[in-house]
Amino acid sequence: MVKFWTAVLKKLRNMVVILERSLGGQKTGWEAQITEMGKQVIVAGGGASGMAAAIMAARKGSQVTILEHMDRVGKKLLSTGNGRCNLTNLKMGKECYRSDQKGFPMKVLERFGVKETLAFFEGIGVLTKDKNGYVYPNSEQAAAVLDLLRLELGRLGVKIILGCQVKRIGRNRIREGFLAETSLGDFEGAAVILASGSRAAAFTGSDGSGYELVRQLGHRVIVPLPALVQLRCEGKYFKQLAGVRCEAKVFLYSGAKRLAWDQGEVQLTDYGISGIPVFQVSRFASRALYGKQPVRAVVDFLPTMDTDSARVFLQQRRKRLGHLKCGDFLTGILHKKLAAVLLKLTGISAEQEAGMVPEDQWERLLVKIKAFDAIVTGTNSFEQAQVCCGGVDTREICPDNLESRLIPGLYIVGELLDVDGICGGYNLQWAWSTGCLAGSSAGECNMGGA
Ligand SMILES: Cc1cc2nc3c(=O)[nH]c(=O)nc-3n(C[C@H](O)[C@H](O)[C@H](O)COP(=O)(O)OP(=O)(O)OC[C@H]3O[C@@H](n4cnc5c(N)ncnc54)[C@H](O)[C@@H]3O)c2cc1C
Repeated sequence: MVKFWTAVLKKLRNMVVILERSLGGQKTGWEAQITEMGKQVIVAGGGASGMAAAIMAARKGSQVTILEHMDRVGKKLLSTGNGRCNLTNLKMGKECYRSDQKGFPMKVLERFGVKETLAFFEGIGVLTKDKNGYVYPNSEQAAAVLDLLRLELGRLGVKIILGCQVKRIGRNRIREGFLAETSLGDFEGAAVILASGSRAAAFTGSDGSGYELVRQLGHRVIVPLPALVQLRCEGKYFKQLAGVRCEAKVFLYSGAKRLAWDQGEVQLTDYGISGIPVFQVSRFASRALYGKQPVRAVVDFLPTMDTDSARVFLQQRRKRLGHLKCGDFLTGILHKKLAAVLLKLTGISAEQEAGMVPEDQWERLLVKIKAFDAIVTGTNSFEQAQVCCGGVDTREICPDNLESRLIPGLYIVGELLDVDGICGGYNLQWAWSTGCLAGSSAGECNMGGA
């Protein structure tokens, strides 16, 4: 009985489809609003993941439309890697990604990883080069990557609708599939790929509206917060330290618990700390501060020596150079501005002879050099963040093809998901991997039996 009614319903639906096709010319509105039946894939967002998804879906023979609210696609891509586009990294492992569901990123990357990504880019004409594992286009121009992606989209006949804000994704009531309600009218598709990014660097188009789209569809969103971002710290002396760059280790603590650490070139600014190692740990500060936990940054300005070796080094230096004023004694070890602030914080006069400074004051200076302590009051804003941590809970997403476990035919990709990578090409890799897997799967969709 059930089978009989299912067959009747399917017949009726096909009749509606045929009727609609024959009335095609009478449909009001813009030509692209109501598309033909068949393998229609809608991609909401024309960033890195959306373009990759569109290419893969079109290669499967689907008719693909990208809906992008900016006046061009791939705006964020142009800013990546300081305009050079660090598109992936040859050193890949689970430690490079963070997510509430720890195993999820690697499950995806095992299906479409660096090897497949390099083949994808080679296929569209990007010659890549490897700098210590960091992969860039040979021309070191992000614009070249975008140009070749756009050329491939054009070759495959992907429609790109610009200035088109996706406002809601609903189920199509007449036939299977989806209806994307936009500022330019409705678009229908057998599958929808949500690729609208996060809230980071909204000037590139990722204004966070994607989170609302997925919430309306019943998906859980883990609160998005700025990540790969500068940390704001307490302390008047930061004004004096602005402009200092030095190799250092950065540790992040909440109470006695170490949250994260990293090493590299730290930049001191008038409001706190920046630089790659700070970016790498920043998402842990974001989360802890959001949870109202106290956060402390501890910076080791002499990371090449452990504390004991540093103590011996300073003692021996004092024996040889004890006649120097303290202001000069640290020259060649620390940046002059930094040395001046550390001496001040320890109560040592820059004019005093190094050999005359009491032992307990040297010990205090050593502590300041090896474990400079600052209270983290916040992060810089979403606008200055490179990515967001948080996003769609990946427990609701199938890692094989990024399809929603709640709504078949709906795919969620890129930074919109609760996965953030460390600096070094890992976030774009995530965009390519998720986009390509979702696109391949969605491209095989078939609406209304056509
Ligand atoms: C300054 C900067 C430098 C970076 N450098 C690197 C790097 O070198 N290497 C690296 O791996 N990562 C880098 N990243 C991170 C990387 O760029 C992102 O992780 C990646 O672009 C995310 O891809 P996505 O497709 O998910 O989102 P996006 O690239 O942000 O694309 C989302 C698209 O959706 C559109 N959109 C949003 N909402 C809507 C809507 N409602 N309707 C229609 N369209 C919508 C947006 O306009 C945008 O075009 C950098 C980020 C920044 C900000």
